[in-house]
Amino acid sequence: MDVRDQAIKTSTSLLSEVVQKSGERIQNCFQCQKCSAGCPLNFAMDILPNQIFRHVQYGHREKVLSSKTIWLCASCHTCSARCPNNIDILKVMDTLRSMSLQSGVASGEKDISMFHQFFLGLIKLTGRTWEPGFGLYKMKTGGLFGMMGWSLKLFLRGKIGIIPTFNGGKELRRLFNEPGKGEVK
Ligand code: SF4
Ligand code: SF4
Repeated sequence: MDVRDQAIKTSTSLLSEVVQKSGERIQNCFQCQKCSAGCPLNFAMDILPNQIFRHVQYGHREKVLSSKTIWLCASCHTCSARCPNNIDILKVMDTLRSMSLQSGVASGEKDISMFHQFFLGLIKLTGRTWEPGFGLYKMKTGGLFGMMGWSLKLFLRGKIGIIPTFNGGKELRRLFNEPGKGEVK
C-alpha cells in the first residue's frame, strides 16, 4: 500500500468516501485533462470532469454534489477509455449522483435529477419502464400538455399500456438495496 492509499484509508474526507463507494483510485488522478478534452458534453458542463476530480481531492463536497456536470454526464465511457490511470470516471459520476440525492444538496440540474428518481422509482416498482408514469414527472416539470398529443396517438396504436406490467422480483430488489448501486432515496 503506497503513501497515497494509506492517506485515503485513514482519512474521513470526501475523497475517502468517494473512493470507498466507487472503488476507483481517484487519488491517482494527475490532472492530465484527457477526460475533459474528449468529453462530448464538456461544452455544457459547469465543472469539467478533471476539475470534479480535483474538487473531490480537496473535499469540496457541496460544489461537487450540486454541480450540473454529474447530471449531464451521458455515461458514454469516452473519458474512462482515455484515462492513463484507468480510472472508471463513469463509476465515479454514478457514485456522485447517488451521493447528491442522498445528501439533499440542491441539484444543479433539477429536471434531470428528478427524471433520474422517477425513472429508477418506476423500475424499482414495476421492473420496467411504464410510460404513463412519466406523466407525473411532466406534471412536476411542466410540458404535460405538450406530450398529450403523441401519447394519445401511441395509446390508440396500442403502444402504451394503461396498467403497468410487473417484472420485478427479488433479484431486482437486491440490486436496488445493494449499497451504492442504484439506490433510490
Ligand atoms: S462518461 Fe460522462 S464525463 Fe465521461 S466522456 Fe462521457 S459524458 Fe463525459
Ligand atoms: S484522464 Fe484520468 S488522470 Fe487524466 S485528468 Fe482525467 S481522471 Fe485524471
